[in-house]
Amino acid sequence: MSPDERRRQEIRANLAQVRARIESAKEQAGRTQDVLLVVITKTFPASDVDILAEEGVSDVGENRDQEAKAKHAQVSDRGLRWHMVGRLQSNKAASVTQWADVVESVDRASLVPRLARGAQQVRDAHSPIELLIQVSLDAPEAIDRGGARPTDVPAIADAIAQAGPAVRLGGLMAVAPHPDSGIDPRRAFAALAEVAAALRADHPEATVLSAGMSGDLEAAIEAGATQVRIGGAVLGQRPRVQ
Ligand SMILES: *Cc1c(COP(=O)(O)O)cnc(C)c1O
Repeated sequence: MSPDERRRQEIRANLAQVRARIESAKEQAGRTQDVLLVVITKTFPASDVDILAEEGVSDVGENRDQEAKAKHAQVSDRGLRWHMVGRLQSNKAASVTQWADVVESVDRASLVPRLARGAQQVRDAHSPIELLIQVSLDAPEAIDRGGARPTDVPAIADAIAQAGPAVRLGGLMAVAPHPDSGIDPRRAFAALAEVAAALRADHPEATVLSAGMSGDLEAAIEAGATQVRIGGAVLGQRPRVQ
């Protein structure tokens, strides 16, 4: 077997396992609605993205503008939806709109006009960029990994709703609390579900809840995640350079 073929087999087997985990988590939670699998391809080559597309993956995610832009240029004919899941620097916000269809890491209102302006230049009004508000599940004094405080969500949502036709509010995204925080991820995801419900009361269109990674997708689906972001469980261990 060639190395390429071996890699394809490995990804195919991992995908089957992850899809089975998602299905069984849905069953456990008594949920029937689809849960979208977003495969996080950061640090992995464009050739892996090609394999993912051929194996039926519709959505991929990246956390760095430069790396993502280069990869996107190599595989852009695949019809994939690209998600930005990494921290956004203000001066990079417009740049990510050149490759991202979904920006999951909007954590402050000041990013919104920058994203809207960037999106306006590359999109028509029929295909706005979807924005998710990233909520921090860490203790307030420990928010250093990005993410808005839950109390800041309404103002950010209003900023997106008022930013014009090039962007639209999709919903929320969160990363489980830091493992050293002592915060129980299930409780954190349950609190997140309440923030999501409050957001939907004001913005019924904001139905997306992006939560769950390789290690905690079951807990996230139990709490109502509509999409999960999976890296390692599909593509293997990332090289340690981050
Ligand atoms: C890397 C990353 C993931 C995927 O993490 P895994 O543990 O490899 O599944 C998900 N979300 C974000 C924001 C990430 O940066």
